[in-house]
Amino acid sequence: MPSLYETLGVARDASVDEIRKAYKSLAREKHPDRGGDAEEFKAIQQAHETLSDEGKRRMYDMTGSVDGQEGGDMGMAAGGIPFSFMGGMGPFGMPGVAFDLGSMFGGIFGGGGGPRKRPGKAPNKHSDIGLRLADFYSGREIKLKFNQQRRCPTCGGSGAEKSESCGPCGGRGVRTMARMIGPGMIAQSTGPCDVCSGEGKRIMKACGACHGKKFKEHEKELVIQIKPGMRDGETLVFAGECSDTPDFEEPGDVVLTLKRVEEEGWEWRGSDLHTTVHITFAEAILGFQKTLKDHPSGTPLHVGWSGIPLVHGAILKAEGKGMPIRDSNKFGTAYIQVLVESPPQREWTAEERAQLRTLFGGEDVQGGVDVIPLTPHTLSGR
Ligand SMILES: [Zn+2]
Ligand SMILES: [Zn+2]
Repeated sequence: MPSLYETLGVARDASVDEIRKAYKSLAREKHPDRGGDAEEFKAIQQAHETLSDEGKRRMYDMTGSVDGQEGGDMGMAAGGIPFSFMGGMGPFGMPGVAFDLGSMFGGIFGGGGGPRKRPGKAPNKHSDIGLRLADFYSGREIKLKFNQQRRCPTCGGSGAEKSESCGPCGGRGVRTMARMIGPGMIAQSTGPCDVCSGEGKRIMKACGACHGKKFKEHEKELVIQIKPGMRDGETLVFAGECSDTPDFEEPGDVVLTLKRVEEEGWEWRGSDLHTTVHITFAEAILGFQKTLKDHPSGTPLHVGWSGIPLVHGAILKAEGKGMPIRDSNKFGTAYIQVLVESPPQREWTAEERAQLRTLFGGEDVQGGVDVIPLTPHTLSGR
């Protein structure tokens, strides 16, 4: 719908004179007697009538309407005002009006209707089981004893031999209560019944088996089977072996993590074992035999080497002397790194040096000429 200014073809700030001139010109041109459209002519007349009257023009400029009628571009602007301003306040601000928090935030209080439902499963309990390498090698059975709490089987965890429906909540376990949340503002909230703690029942006679405590304790023994081939950091789950608690329907799991304790000796990687042995310079050349006492099998490992001379850091292996491989009769490998000691730190005699030269070659450098004599800086080497 064109504005009245558009109908007359004038600017919004047109003068009274401009409006009159525009109207006269249009009225002549669009007059029905001269073949003009009657509706269009009527609109031109109305536009002139409004815009030529100072009071009506101002009203039209402010409201966009003529004589209370809707229309015009200002009407669009009025409709664009956000609706919430119209009433001033949202539902929370309406004084004295009760509304139901429980239904607005459904489920926040554990749901309405019927006795309070405990959320599913309690959190799991985690603990570590410290084991030596030998335990992982041979396997072991560990018995874990603790006091486990269970819902009383006699009363099913109600604590009552006889009970009656809770009056205030009508046995539903939930109540809707009015609460002041601000001046003149009342909120209704639905939550667990404060009289029966959401149980929906009141105990008339306590259960004889648990004396009304709802739970009974007994000694529980978990048998933990460490099987050969299990790994450091592996977890064992005992489903539902935590105690029953009032807050959860189901007890949590007992989760045990196998952890190797700090100990000297063999390093454990995968199914293999790694260690180091110190050998003398002579043993590096002539070969050696060693007994490794701390092998996790419990049987000392007698090992020997009689091959070519060993350099410091060389790694030897004994297949089948590593850790057991799970679900097989196989074992990993034991790797032994040799750390070669230096030759004896003393002055060697001319005769010994001559003997070594016959074995290894080389020249007698004693009494050499024209060299810069070196002096000790550090002779330990480590
Ligand atoms: Zn009981
Ligand atoms: Zn109740």
